[in-house]
Amino acid sequence: MPSARYINVAGGGLAGLTLGIGLRQRGVPVTIWEAGDYPRHRVCGEFICGRGLQTLSRLGLIPKIEQRGARVANTAAFFNRHASFEIHKLPSEALCVSRFVLDETLALQFQRLGGELRTHQRWQGKKAQEGVVWATGRRVRTGESSSRWFGLKIHARGVELQADLEMHLSPHGYVGLCRLANDEVNVCGLFRRGLHARAKNARELLRGEPGSALNERLAAADFEDPSFCSIAGLNLRSDRLRNQPECRIGDTITMIPPVTGNGMSMAFESAEMAIEPLMEYVWGRISWLQARQTIARECDSQFARRLFWARWLQAFVLSPWCQRTLIRPVAKSETLWRAWFALTR
Ligand SMILES: Cc1cc2nc3c(=O)[nH]c(=O)nc-3n(C[C@H](O)[C@H](O)[C@H](O)COP(=O)(O)OP(=O)(O)OC[C@H]3O[C@@H](n4cnc5c(N)ncnc54)[C@H](O)[C@@H]3O)c2cc1C
Repeated sequence: MPSARYINVAGGGLAGLTLGIGLRQRGVPVTIWEAGDYPRHRVCGEFICGRGLQTLSRLGLIPKIEQRGARVANTAAFFNRHASFEIHKLPSEALCVSRFVLDETLALQFQRLGGELRTHQRWQGKKAQEGVVWATGRRVRTGESSSRWFGLKIHARGVELQADLEMHLSPHGYVGLCRLANDEVNVCGLFRRGLHARAKNARELLRGEPGSALNERLAAADFEDPSFCSIAGLNLRSDRLRNQPECRIGDTITMIPPVTGNGMSMAFESAEMAIEPLMEYVWGRISWLQARQTIARECDSQFARRLFWARWLQAFVLSPWCQRTLIRPVAKSETLWRAWFALTR
């Protein structure tokens, strides 16, 4: 019997679109409300790794993303101001793809499956409303002392990398470089608030201090201005979904420190975890409260460990003392490298 229930998703980023696709594949009526449009650049390291790749694979999305120019990544290397550490093989393959391409690919696929996508429209209804899933991305909290991070991103050409992913650390933050399609490189940094007052402009921050390995790497970089974007007021405090009255997926639950390169994966995974309970709700087999609680339980139990270790990893790589002393032996050890990778994914 057809159901009168349907799903509204507030936010058409990675989490919202993945959920929309999963629901449409099962015939569930769903509308996504997206404040912006596609394609558009986003602040993101554009490096996908971890279990979210399996979600994309189960939803049949990997070939579609590969057709649009995703690149497989196999190696990663850490650098501090003057030194480079070992190049490590990634314990599992990652995928590097521009968000300009990725979000649009998912949006088109959602529409092909019969989903209704309302761009340039914010969800205006209540937050904790039945049938509404929040996928509105990172919660920007200006004015809170804990919101002391900001992010910058730009694409560049003419950059030679030693590994598919390079992480350049400084006491003020880090800049990740990863290879994209068409000889482009993503240059994406997370910085402490207050630093922009000392640097002349965003490019100067992304280029790193004169004399650093990062500065050398980007010496001949040709930056693509239209790809530049920024975001401030990032709060990296972790939160549990069961403490929140709304049904949420993706960054709007909580944001994992970007150093892990796992935020997109969590967006895909949380979306996948929501598909079954929402389907059961739409077909009238469970209540909204049951659906919401099931999603909260699943997300909290899947993400608690990695959120815990991600915060340690972030504190560790950003501590000036660790950068001077501990990071070299840690970065050299294959065992520790694999352990950190496993714990934060
Ligand atoms: C500096 C930095 C580097 C990063 N690097 C990586 C990386 O290399 N690898 C990785 O996996 N992750 C990385 N991340 C994290 C990753 O970008 C996020 O985890 C991911 O984008 C989360 O997806 P989402 O769908 O939850 O949110 P988003 O992709 O942000 O989408 C949210 C959407 O909701 C829309 N929206 C907001 N409010 C409303 C409203 N009221 N109504 C309608 N629409 C609304 C927005 O326009 C947006 O399109 C990085 C993050 C930062 C800050």
